[in-house]
Amino acid sequence: GEFTTEVDVLVIGAGPGGYVAAIRAAQLGKSVTVVEKGNVGGVCLNVGCIPSKAMIHAAHTYEHAQHTSAMGITMENVKVDMAKVQEWKAGVVKQLTGGVSQLFKGNKIQVIEGEALFVSENEVRVFHGYDVNRYRFNHCIIASGSRPIELPAFPFGPRVLSSTEALALTELPKSLVVIGGGYIGIELGTVFAKFGTKVTVLEGSEQILPGFEPEMTRLVDRKLKKLGVDINTKALAQGMEETANGVIVKAEVNGEQKSFEAEYVLVTVGRRPNTDELGLREVGINLTERGLVVVDKQGRTNLPNVYAIGDIVAGPALAHKASYEGKVAAEAIAGHPSEVDYKAIPAVVFSDPEIASVGLNEKEAKEKGIDYVSGRFPFAANGRALSVNAGEGFVKVIAEKATGLVLGAQIVGPEASNIVAELGLAIEMGATLEDIALTIHAHPTLGEATMEAAEVALGNPIHIV
Ligand code: FAD
Repeated sequence: GEFTTEVDVLVIGAGPGGYVAAIRAAQLGKSVTVVEKGNVGGVCLNVGCIPSKAMIHAAHTYEHAQHTSAMGITMENVKVDMAKVQEWKAGVVKQLTGGVSQLFKGNKIQVIEGEALFVSENEVRVFHGYDVNRYRFNHCIIASGSRPIELPAFPFGPRVLSSTEALALTELPKSLVVIGGGYIGIELGTVFAKFGTKVTVLEGSEQILPGFEPEMTRLVDRKLKKLGVDINTKALAQGMEETANGVIVKAEVNGEQKSFEAEYVLVTVGRRPNTDELGLREVGINLTERGLVVVDKQGRTNLPNVYAIGDIVAGPALAHKASYEGKVAAEAIAGHPSEVDYKAIPAVVFSDPEIASVGLNEKEAKEKGIDYVSGRFPFAANGRALSVNAGEGFVKVIAEKATGLVLGAQIVGPEASNIVAELGLAIEMGATLEDIALTIHAHPTLGEATMEAAEVALGNPIHIV
């Protein structure tokens, strides 16, 4: 027979949504049980954010080692051993996932291996091999994440990779066709291009990284072309043929039939929420047509004791958004009045150069009919950017004209991913352009470009005319 255990808060999935929710619930005095069918850390730590950033850093290091002669440094015999790169990357992942397990222990959170399936509004079955156990809960937080979308014409297999397999290659492909020029495709395409793979990108819309402004993506586009990447926009991948040692991808590019030969195809056309195999519909949980769970501002589903967070609910599929929602849901369960406020979620592409955006961009401000000012400061006029040989790009700040209230920022250039934090704080605090301009930024730092962008918007920058 099946054994039933009573638990207080049950969290399904131990990714950045689930593990953060579990810890916050435990901090608030709840007894917490986490069910995870794969690896603690979820997509982000195991096959997403962290391994991709490790690979990006390795590729960047390799590229830089070959391009230091302008600084008077010549390196010879620069080589890459992909198997060793993989070992190093795996070490980084292991350290972080081990850290999450320690945090579970430290917070007295019980972790159960297995796959959860809802059987009623307050009960799941957990399958682990031949073992099946039931857990009856007072509250549940579903954080089951997402998986790569498969294209019918490009079924995943030895030659057709998702981001997961691409991140695990122990040998460098000679050539790679990337279908989908969103952030995952561009980040991974850049990694392989820097390591020396001949990369082709096929993107359906008019630009790579759709959703980000062309004045930002243009710099990424230019760098990719410099790396020898063949970028095809308005390109629809239609089918493929396997050859002896690779594939031929057929695509319609700008209305013209073309074919591209490569050793592998990487399909990065988006991710699908893991909501189809949990029995959610069967117990009456409302889903959208796309399979996202419908939730309120506390993450609560239409069942009052069941919450959902992260990639399975609406909004950008990003780790920090999942964690943020996890804290809110845990606090709601503990009776706090916490609610999500999405106005300052940063979005970052770890491309070369990096792109980051938070709050509104100019187009969105216009669409909302806001009377705004903007200030843009180029890294070419920033001492630190030049001294680290990265003087491309800019910081742009957008503010309400009448009040100076910061509404958004877009950054392209060195460390954009880190610089955006200050602007997120500005929006979160209700800071004005003057607050940023009055903040003394250490010299020489990239952050000075933020201060100067605010001064540009106020009409009195020091370092540009
Ligand atoms: P997940 O991380 O997907 O975790 C869900 C967990 O639930 C999994 O471990 C899964 O095994 C488990 N699970 C699912 N169903 C069940 C079940 N029935 N029973 C038990 N367990 C179950 N985001 C960023 O913010 N920054 C980045 O730089 C970034 N880079 C990325 C790079 C790549 C290549 C990819 C693929 C993604 C990247 N992301 C990035 C996105 C980020 O990984 C996700 O947004 C994030 O992991 C979502 O967190 P989550 O907790 O919702 O779900």
